[in-house]
Amino acid sequence: MKRLLLSCGFFALFSLAACTPQTADTSAVGARAEAIQAHLEFLADDLLEGRDTGTRGHEIASSYIATQFKLMGIEPAGTDGYFQRITFRTARIVANSPKFIVHANGESQELAYPRAFMTGPSALAEEQSVTAPVVFVGYGMVSDQFGFDDYAGLDVEGAIVMMLSGLPEGLPSEEAAHLGRIKTELALERGAVGIITLHTPKAEETRPWERSMLFLNATRMRWLGEDGLPHGEDPQIQGAASLNYQEAAPLFAHSDILLDDVWAAMEAGEMPRGGALNVSVTMERKSTHDEVTSPNVIGMIEGSDPELKDEFVLFTAHSDHIGRVRSVEGEPQFNNGALDNAAGVAIMIETARMFADAVARGDQPKRSIMFAALTAEEKGLLGADYFANNPTVPIENIVANVNLDMPVLLYPFADIIAFGANHSTMKDVVAEAAGEFGIKLSPDPMPEQAIFTRSDHYALVQKGIPAVFLMTGFESQDPEQDGGAIWSQFFAEQYHRPGDEISTLTEVYGEIRYDFGAIFTDINYAIGRNVANNPERPEWLPESYFGQVFAGGEGSIRH
Ligand SMILES: [Zn+2]
Repeated sequence: MKRLLLSCGFFALFSLAACTPQTADTSAVGARAEAIQAHLEFLADDLLEGRDTGTRGHEIASSYIATQFKLMGIEPAGTDGYFQRITFRTARIVANSPKFIVHANGESQELAYPRAFMTGPSALAEEQSVTAPVVFVGYGMVSDQFGFDDYAGLDVEGAIVMMLSGLPEGLPSEEAAHLGRIKTELALERGAVGIITLHTPKAEETRPWERSMLFLNATRMRWLGEDGLPHGEDPQIQGAASLNYQEAAPLFAHSDILLDDVWAAMEAGEMPRGGALNVSVTMERKSTHDEVTSPNVIGMIEGSDPELKDEFVLFTAHSDHIGRVRSVEGEPQFNNGALDNAAGVAIMIETARMFADAVARGDQPKRSIMFAALTAEEKGLLGADYFANNPTVPIENIVANVNLDMPVLLYPFADIIAFGANHSTMKDVVAEAAGEFGIKLSPDPMPEQAIFTRSDHYALVQKGIPAVFLMTGFESQDPEQDGGAIWSQFFAEQYHRPGDEISTLTEVYGEIRYDFGAIFTDINYAIGRNVANNPERPEWLPESYFGQVFAGGEGSIRH
């Protein structure tokens, strides 16, 4: 940013003519739009082929980020210099290997694949087979907070549980997203050996079975722990499948639970009654496994305070994207992910540069600041999850996380959104930092999307770390440009498509607003600086569901 200054000095005392207006470059203090542009242009180049996890393109991106950190004098904070290398297993289903057989009264009936049932690959075992009795458990939901226990009175030890897809209506969206994710864990704790998810008429309205069939061969990626086992997969669960409700009759033919009663209960907003179905099921599948490695890139700036420097403010931005696709004509095309998330990484690098320059000016933050470019976000927040489970500093010393994912720099935003701000004292910090630059903090415009649970910071939230996920808001400073409409257009037309690249975005939206990227960076820096220098750590608000679930402490709840 340039600022007009009157530079007069000593000679001004003698001659007004010597006092000429000049433009002085104050970029050493503020964020630099041109630096954000340079980083973004490199990271979103075709040469990096869409930065897919485990590819050469993503390795080059990671090397670039590490090199930038080194140039700035930021210390390495990975396990191998700046790098924290992760081994991933990629699993694919063997075509037509899945089987689903219903046994009752000495007879067996095989269901058709994939019309009646579907299953993803297993990241755990290349061959899996399980036969066990089936117990219907409604939604498979347990929550003290919301007064559910779908397992009450049911014994599912050694059984395959069948649960309805989705959740009962009326739950707040962020809490619902969390509860949806722990359904497998709840089944595991109760001794289940397999899970059948029953696709429902309601689910059919939003995600038709036919459409899911298009993703039949989707791969599954998991990080491997030191024991060589894929994280997040439990060997107790030996089979899993989705079942099409239109083909589910054989499973309900031997109990007093009727499918029509289940749908009626759902319609009425009641919890359907569970029970043993008096059938057993065999589920089988074969999967192939590959291994790739991919790095997180982590750097840090040490704090100045002898005690607080052992605590960290953590900035995160995912460096991976979704790689290549083929056009209808079969031509290779790249998903360059200019906004998702070359933009977030570019802003994080420039934020790091501002901290490095602040240290050089003698304005060192009290707490240490950590910057992590995370891999495999697009595979399910895996790089963040790996870091959260294998932190390179004690996890309890990370006082806050600020995550940057897909800032939409296509209009002069007048506000920002901080997903998760409502849950902790970070809200005031963000509002104050944005206010310094004339930008206001707006409430979440799409709470139904539960975005707080959908990017890297959530892996850290699960470890009890207060976090915010910063996004450009929907208001525009230009009355000619409707920020919300532009955001939605990007989301509908370019997001996760080859169009999320510099040339297409420039063509469609006129320009990429690197100048507003700089404002976003200034806000980001101000948040980090304020958290780093505040004597108090950020805290979860007592009423926050996530604070209660993950931060432990008094009054903590599990579900
Ligand atoms: Zn994405």
